[in-house]
Amino acid sequence: MSTNIEWTDQTDNIIRVKGGGWWCQKVSEGCAKCYSEKLNQNSFFGGNKLPYSGLAPELELDTETIRKWGFQRKSKNHFVASMTDVFGEWVPRHWQHEMLDGMFAAPKQTFQILTKRPEIMLSSMDEWLSCRGLDKLPSNIWVGTSTENQQTADKRIPILLQIPAVVRFLSCEPLLGEIDLKIIPNWVICGGESGPNSRPCHIEWINSIVQQCQQSNTKVFVKQLGANAKFGGQQFQTRDKKGGDIEEFPEQLRIREFPVLVRD
Ligand code: SF4
Repeated sequence: MSTNIEWTDQTDNIIRVKGGGWWCQKVSEGCAKCYSEKLNQNSFFGGNKLPYSGLAPELELDTETIRKWGFQRKSKNHFVASMTDVFGEWVPRHWQHEMLDGMFAAPKQTFQILTKRPEIMLSSMDEWLSCRGLDKLPSNIWVGTSTENQQTADKRIPILLQIPAVVRFLSCEPLLGEIDLKIIPNWVICGGESGPNSRPCHIEWINSIVQQCQQSNTKVFVKQLGANAKFGGQQFQTRDKKGGDIEEFPEQLRIREFPVLVRD
């Protein structure tokens, strides 16, 4: 499906609720205003109105989309499972492995997988690698974790870095505080929260991430300032309602880089 997420070409939501809509389970502060849950409350957009808490409903894996990856001619970046966490505790491990098999069979496509549960991603990928007799992930599988504040960064980044992948990335969005990244993977996406009642994002926090990346020669992608951007303690007004127009960014933040593409 086409998307307006600036750092990918399309989203492939391979896990859905039987009968329609999506489901996920909130896990940390970054989930509080989950865009996917909001969309899921709206039947006009195909939502089923379930909240993202409690027990998982009956789900299905879209094996047809996975199968088709290998036949696509044009190389694209695919953000897989943007509406849920494919490494949620409720997702059967063999589904995760079917997804990885499909990615392995589609070396021309690049797959961007983002989780807030890198510990499950690590153990599932370790299992898949050993079952397939591989010692590292193919270069078309990029693995990422979301880190919205210092606490999640300290917990999740060291786990992400144990996954043997060519591209490991962070999504610092919604950025909810200043983060000292300490160890930086290959690529960092950052941005403030969007939508009604967005929590504030101080442009100084984004600036700090960009500087840390530049000092360590890491590619960085500033996605948006957010709907409630602050600068010097004052509101920073933008015409774009999510602060996503790069022309409105302070000059030093007009930066949208991607990792260098390496193919096996
Ligand atoms: S992990 Fe992502 S999709 Fe799931 S509840 Fe949190 S923000 Fe929403």
